[in-house]
Amino acid sequence: MRKLTGKELAAAIKTQTAAEVAAGPQPRLAVVVATDDEASLWYVRSIAKAAAGLGIAADLVDLGPGARAEQIRETLARLSADAGVHGVMLQTPLPAGISAQEMAGAIDPRKDIDGANPLSLGRLAAGLPAFVPATAAAVMALLDHYGVALEGRRAVVVGRSTVVGKPLAHLLLDRHATVTVSHSRTRHLAAVTAAAEVLVVAVGRTGLIGAEHVAPGAVVIDVGTNPTGDGGLAGDVDFDAVAGVAGALTPVPGGVGPVTTALLLRHTARAANLP
Ligand code: NAP
Repeated sequence: MRKLTGKELAAAIKTQTAAEVAAGPQPRLAVVVATDDEASLWYVRSIAKAAAGLGIAADLVDLGPGARAEQIRETLARLSADAGVHGVMLQTPLPAGISAQEMAGAIDPRKDIDGANPLSLGRLAAGLPAFVPATAAAVMALLDHYGVALEGRRAVVVGRSTVVGKPLAHLLLDRHATVTVSHSRTRHLAAVTAAAEVLVVAVGRTGLIGAEHVAPGAVVIDVGTNPTGDGGLAGDVDFDAVAGVAGALTPVPGGVGPVTTALLLRHTARAANLP
């Protein structure tokens, strides 16, 4: 079984991005936060730190967990209109009852470095240039980095969220895979996933995917990041069980996650250089 780690690829993307940054105007990223969720704040701080390392300025715009929808929308619109800001990102979770998709409609698609504006997903679905959600882009980058063929192959995505599952399905289709999307209402999940030559799991349930869900030799990408009791992270795939069946498998942590952060920064640098 081949372990598909993301660290080497993330480092290569960062090196390339740092060179792009050095050659152009300094990119500025604004991350809007409206939560006191510790894991989320930790993630945002890690993005800011990684940005600084590449010469990208990053501002955390913290509206607090009591932020109202109008306030979030206005902040995103203001940052989108600010010529000094090149990338705008809205971190989730948001206060109860506020839809991230609804809010992200206020992000200018040219600055939508995490592909959160529904217009970006629509453009992706229509085959038009758009910023793709960084996590979905990271899965594709990992598959390419390890030379996984997609054309004509059976790909199964578990999860149909707007941020991961749906954009991934479009990206895989664009690459001529035969794509099946499964979700919480899918019957006989193991039978569906065991037909996959390439299986991507983005659910958020520790150990959902066991050996019985995986075909011998399949390539398995685990997007899940589930906090463990001891402050660590676990994936959606039971790594030890699936390692005995799969041909290749990403670890959690150290698989999709680092590539996602690197791509967010690449997208920011590209946004700063849009004509
Ligand atoms: P989400 O919005 O909660 O969506 C979860 C999806 O999983 C839904 O489509 C849901 O189906 C499906 N699902 C739930 N239970 C299922 C089951 N028993 N069998 C099959 N499908 C099931 O989550 P998300 O935002 O897409 O995130 C998914 C995971 O990826 C989470 O662990 C998240 O932390 C992680 N993530 C990682 C990164 C990274 O960079 N590594 C980035 C983003 C997210 P329904 O649609 O029917 O409800």
